[in-house]
Amino acid sequence: MNIEQKINTLREELRQHNYNYYILDNPTIEDFEFDMKLKQLQELEEKYPEFYDENSPTQRVGGAITKNFKTVVHDFRMYSLDNSYSKEDLLDWETRIKKMVDGEVQYTCELKYDGASMNLTYENGKLVRAVTRGDGVQGDEVTANIKTINTVPLQLKGDFPKRFDIRGEIILPISGFVEMNKERISNGEEPYRNPRNTASGSLKLQDSAEVAKRPLECLLYSIKGNNLKISTQFEGLEKARRWGFKVPPEAKLVNSIDEVLNYINHWDKHRHELPYEIDGVVVKVNSLYQQDELGFTAKAPRWAMAYKFKAEQVSTRLHEITYQVGRTGAITPVANLEPVELAGTIVKRASLHNADQIEKLDIREGDEVFVEKGGEIIPKIISVDLTKRPPDSSPTEYILTCPECDTTLIRVEGEAKHYCPNYNGCPPQVIGRIQHYISRKAMDIEGLGGETVALLVKEKLISNYSDLYELTVQEVIPLERMAQKSAENLINGIEASRQIPFERVLFALGIRYVGETVAKKLAKHYKSIDALMAAPIEGLIAVDEIGDRIAESVVEFFASEENKNIIARLKNFGVQLEISAEKLANQTDKLSGKSIVVSGVFESVSRNELKKLIEDNGGKVSSSISSKTSFLVAGDKMGPSKLAKAEKLNVPILTEESFLEKLK
Ligand code: AMP
Ligand code: ZN
Repeated sequence: MNIEQKINTLREELRQHNYNYYILDNPTIEDFEFDMKLKQLQELEEKYPEFYDENSPTQRVGGAITKNFKTVVHDFRMYSLDNSYSKEDLLDWETRIKKMVDGEVQYTCELKYDGASMNLTYENGKLVRAVTRGDGVQGDEVTANIKTINTVPLQLKGDFPKRFDIRGEIILPISGFVEMNKERISNGEEPYRNPRNTASGSLKLQDSAEVAKRPLECLLYSIKGNNLKISTQFEGLEKARRWGFKVPPEAKLVNSIDEVLNYINHWDKHRHELPYEIDGVVVKVNSLYQQDELGFTAKAPRWAMAYKFKAEQVSTRLHEITYQVGRTGAITPVANLEPVELAGTIVKRASLHNADQIEKLDIREGDEVFVEKGGEIIPKIISVDLTKRPPDSSPTEYILTCPECDTTLIRVEGEAKHYCPNYNGCPPQVIGRIQHYISRKAMDIEGLGGETVALLVKEKLISNYSDLYELTVQEVIPLERMAQKSAENLINGIEASRQIPFERVLFALGIRYVGETVAKKLAKHYKSIDALMAAPIEGLIAVDEIGDRIAESVVEFFASEENKNIIARLKNFGVQLEISAEKLANQTDKLSGKSIVVSGVFESVSRNELKKLIEDNGGKVSSSISSKTSFLVAGDKMGPSKLAKAEKLNVPILTEESFLEKLK
């Protein structure tokens, strides 16, 4: 087999495994094996860039940055749907239909996936563009982001039309949403409110690698095109499935509105068994011929109708309001409820968010309250049933002091939450910060877990993360469940964390609002903790994507004597507090402020090396040419359309040699 065949075989295999895993939900190889094959393909593609394919399975990891999303006019307008809420509404709809079309009418019933709509265009079986609904007439092109979604096929199978559009909903499954929020909470960030907004917010992220990290999915429901040889909606769904799209199997073909109602009632009851959220059902006239006859109103097709579910509500007793203290000292009031079943789960607690929320609801212990699960995963208290309020009840007084350490709480102007300012003495803060420091995405200290951290603090062996580096085997052996071996592992794990690179150390410090991405940005910009500590607020705000809130939090963190002391200790213990000399040697800001497009095949460096060179020298790699492009680095076999566009916009074109020369 020659190299090209080998690359193509690997791509084909990976595509099939991707399909088995994400579409059929039925993997036939181990994840590890899959990763090895992917790695093998990546290496071959790096080595032989002449076989580059923008729809290769390796392209799913993202990386392209889009500064401004291009506006694109849809070939077929994306209409909205009319809504119905009752049997009567549906019967009225049927009457209107029967007046306009002859013969029997069949309906396709589908679930109404709750996410963001997306139009995908395929040409010769390849995804060529993905556009948001926008105002229905035109939307934003978000192809780079959509390519990272595993359920969007980059290459179709079987007997697909030469060119067509297919529409679907980008959704975030509930489990993925819960995972993302766990991480946000552990970073001291506000959790996302619901999967729908999180999914739609993801589409317009500038960095496609960020999108790739989110477990989004695309569920398809409609094909548009000319001369497609499809005569019913249901047939369209089946075909799309065969070409490799994810079309949920719950779609059903029925013969009457009565059957439609059965479908609706079934899913109203069982919707919580689905791995994603739906907000109703969509009913469509099945025959495309009849659809044509019915046509559209100004806003929606006459041949389709959405049926919206009511948000589920129950009432229950509020026993007690308790208060939680987070790692960052933020106080969250929690409603402890009489357990009650709601939307398929038992609800015992609900967040009350903050003091304002309590005041707004005038909620009191002993009240009977209405709890709702709408689009939100976390149940929400909607209101109080005042008719059932006990006569002796009095308004809730928000706590004034910390439930854990008794310190007087503070509330910063403009912020909703109260904070416990006892940064160094409040146990959940002290323990939470160290737990964050050792966590997998931070210092990843092997052999040390969250409970051991709590024990170490309780036994006064440590009081902040810098103390970890002074622990000895003898000190930890007496702890519960510690043996010689595990104690040694723990100490070795701490030892090894000295090699963790600066950007992760910066994340590990647990500065409020400094999550992984921000830490990376700051590390790259300032290169050492000393430079970062010396940075004034204005300087920080000037860094790309750093806003006032983050800047203030960083300055405040380093203003503390205690923190300065801890940093000095970390430095002494050999923790990486600057970008390593080796990495730094390759970094300059020669290309700072430049937006650069790379195209074609190169000789002395691979495409990825070239991109890395640009980034290391402070430049930005952009995937498409616009008037803002500073220059284009053109290799061999570069696409003619890119060349034409660069010429048209007068974007300078550099050869590989002249570009490398520029960096010397
Ligand atoms: P609305 O936004 O309330 O006008 O509802 C229309 C939207 O419902 C469409 O733009 C789609 O994004 C979404 N939708 C979800 N599931 C389906 C489905 N099965 N068929 C058609 N549209 C759907
Ligand atoms: Zn406290």
